[in-house]
Amino acid sequence: MTPARNAAPPHQPGASGEVRMSFNALDLIPELTRAVADQGYLEPTPIQVKGIPPILQRRDVMGCAQTGTGKTAGFALPLLQLLAPQANTSLSPARHPLRVLVLTPTRELAAQVEESFRTYAKYLPLRSAVVFGGVDIGPQMKQLHSGVEILVATPGRLLDHLHQKTLNLSRVEFLVLDEADRMLDMGFIPDIKRILAVLPPKRQNMLFSATFPEEVRRLAKDLLHSPVTIEVAPRNAPADLVTHLVYPVPLLRKRALLVHLIRSRGMRQVLVFVRMKRDANRLARQLQHDGVVAKEIHSDRTQAERMQALEDFKQGKVPVLVATDIAARGLDIEELPFVINYELPHTPEDYVHRIGRTGRAGLPGEAISLVSPDEMKFLEDVERMLKRKLPRASAPESLSESRHGPRAREPRAERGARHAHAPRPQHVPKPSPSGFDFTKPYEPAAAGAASHPPAAPVAHRRPHRPTAALLGGGPAKREPHK
Ligand code: AMP
Repeated sequence: MTPARNAAPPHQPGASGEVRMSFNALDLIPELTRAVADQGYLEPTPIQVKGIPPILQRRDVMGCAQTGTGKTAGFALPLLQLLAPQANTSLSPARHPLRVLVLTPTRELAAQVEESFRTYAKYLPLRSAVVFGGVDIGPQMKQLHSGVEILVATPGRLLDHLHQKTLNLSRVEFLVLDEADRMLDMGFIPDIKRILAVLPPKRQNMLFSATFPEEVRRLAKDLLHSPVTIEVAPRNAPADLVTHLVYPVPLLRKRALLVHLIRSRGMRQVLVFVRMKRDANRLARQLQHDGVVAKEIHSDRTQAERMQALEDFKQGKVPVLVATDIAARGLDIEELPFVINYELPHTPEDYVHRIGRTGRAGLPGEAISLVSPDEMKFLEDVERMLKRKLPRASAPESLSESRHGPRAREPRAERGARHAHAPRPQHVPKPSPSGFDFTKPYEPAAAGAASHPPAAPVAHRRPHRPTAALLGGGPAKREPHK
């Protein structure tokens, strides 16, 4: 059981003046409130407070919420409640028609969403399945054949099943498009339109997205009928619990700085972002070479390899996971304290998605960006979107000096006041234990007491090399380059 994370008495006014709620006030059936209590949830998150009632009232919903806000339960709980009257233990597939279809952009997110459905449906005789590509289609066919009420799928594999006629969508009543903006980025919109064309026209639709670029708005307009719009974080704003830190650093010193930060901060779990798959491979290999245990996760790796890498990371066996944007989408890693942007993304929305991996479920997190001079433009884009300048920290002297170019240091006035070798988060807002601000992303009252696990040294493959050698001296050919 997950420990209770947002213990607070129900029905108290929150910091924003809104009324706090307990799950009981949402009129959920006992089978669901029991399952939720088993998870240690004591009160609904803002997206759940706002999303559950309209979904129960059969309204279409457009949700502007990041992963990490509790949005999965926000749609899974009311959908399970709507399915419950027809839940049954019959062995006949005909008694388990497919009624809920959830589309997600990535396999990992699909697996996590389906697991959530199973968790919340533990006291109900309802069946769910997940289908995604990269794995044998046979077992999926068998499972679908036996009848499931809830299917979570990635669009490509769903179309495979439709072509093979192993799936009947004619009884679908509820459609959820999760992370619609990412579906768009990944080029899934044509696939989604193909799927929409074979769904029964009369159904309830829910669309969730962290950002709302124009094309997602158009999709929402076509898909949703008089939707209730739910927004729990300011549009395009990252979770408030995340502290940002920027290290201006020459390209050729990035890797040494990364290793230095991992070691000096005692990072035991850090997700490191690069843009390209090949750079993820290379960086993970180079880190291993530097004595830092690391694995990569990206879409060229088999599903089994991705799942294994994620599992090893979650269990703390591998402290560093190097990821591309697409692979990391939807990863739910509880209490992930650090995200490092080894390279900045080319679109500021991706920055929001990346840092959305940390600062989740009310726990503080830190997003550190290593920014080379050629990436300053992307940093400006991010800052423009966030409407603020992100705090700078300076790398240790030996790292700031590139043998290949001029000193890449920001003006003295911009440097952080903290010690360069061990920067501390500039600002980690603590939620008030007596108030709850419903305008903010999920930020449980108990979070102030939570802390990251104590720092521990990163596992080394070989004896620790002197810091000076790490920071100053490596041969140029070992440095990352694009
Ligand atoms: P999601 O945004 O759906 O990915 O959820 C993020 C995390 O929040 C998951 O680990 C959930 O288990 C957790 N969570 C969801 N609802 C609640 C709640 N009401 N109280 C505490 N944790 C929750």
